[in-house]
Amino acid sequence: MFTHAPKPTLIVHGGAWAIPPEMAADHLAGVGQALKTGHAILNWGGTATDAVEAAITILEDDPTFDAGRGSFLTSKGTVQLDALLMDGATLRAGGVACVEHLRNPIQAARLVLDKSAHVYFVGPGAEAFAASHGMPLISNSELVLNRERIRLKDAKSRLSAGLADITFSGALAHDDKGPETPAEQLQDHHKSGYPVSGLSPQGPDAGETNPSKLATPSQFDSHDTVGAVALDQYGNLAAGTSTGGTLNKAPGRVGDSSLIGCGCYADNQSAAVSLTGWGEPIMKLVLGKWATDRVAQGVAPELAAQQAIAYLYQRLGGHGGIILLSPDGQCGLAHNTPGMAWGIANAQGLRTGLYI
Ligand code: ASP
Repeated sequence: MFTHAPKPTLIVHGGAWAIPPEMAADHLAGVGQALKTGHAILNWGGTATDAVEAAITILEDDPTFDAGRGSFLTSKGTVQLDALLMDGATLRAGGVACVEHLRNPIQAARLVLDKSAHVYFVGPGAEAFAASHGMPLISNSELVLNRERIRLKDAKSRLSAGLADITFSGALAHDDKGPETPAEQLQDHHKSGYPVSGLSPQGPDAGETNPSKLATPSQFDSHDTVGAVALDQYGNLAAGTSTGGTLNKAPGRVGDSSLIGCGCYADNQSAAVSLTGWGEPIMKLVLGKWATDRVAQGVAPELAAQQAIAYLYQRLGGHGGIILLSPDGQCGLAHNTPGMAWGIANAQGLRTGLYI
């Protein structure tokens, strides 16, 4: 029990991947804006769920990120979006997947959380539910950017040329494993683990953009799923994640982001978490729940975040990033990709960066 009101805290991420230097400023500005909006809501007495929804709405509206307009395209050239919102006080959750006609899937997820006896809707059923609660249905073309048409074409040429996917590992840390490698195939020098960048006890330096940590520019490297976790002054946690998924995904594919306990989870009795990275390995490890369980067992979020990403790599050769927040406001951030756009707002102020 808290003897005084908890200090409102918000952590956001804008995807963990090989962020090219020319995209650094847009990523910092985007997470900064989401952070300011969400933190203001917390400071005015808003709930953690309200703050997470508002922060993610800003990131979905920003075409920099792989969520909402500007998302990656499926192999058919359409945008298909997934999102989950979870309230740690009640364990109520709302999820939508494979929606094609909603500008802000996180708002549809909020409607599911608030107004449905169900927890998860997909495709046309999700859109019909959102429309029945007043959300406008838009044409899919409004979500598609020309930048993404070019990126899809490049990805397809790369695939037919047999080139490895370096989306998450990046050129600098390329390890020839693609999105995932079975543990038995990891080479000996990888078995001991892969470098995990995590929050140090001193915390990260604000606005760091060390170019050596950023990727060699490439049209192919991109992953900007967005997420947020919040603690409000009432002591409640919430988490949300929203994504356009992976580039060139098969229509109908759903990743980790919107699945409870995989890319997102919140429980006042453990922690709130949002993940990003190649979804398949994250799903197989139910990594969000894995990380929050560690916090419930007494591991500090700072360490639990690093352990989760180390486990992702050691078990399946996966790459990704995580934000984790405990009920007493301790923050954990970690990634094993070259970069991860992040922001933290708490009593110490607002900080953003592109790697930990
Ligand atoms: N996790 C997302 C997915 O697999 C992608 C990402 O985080 O960028 O759909």
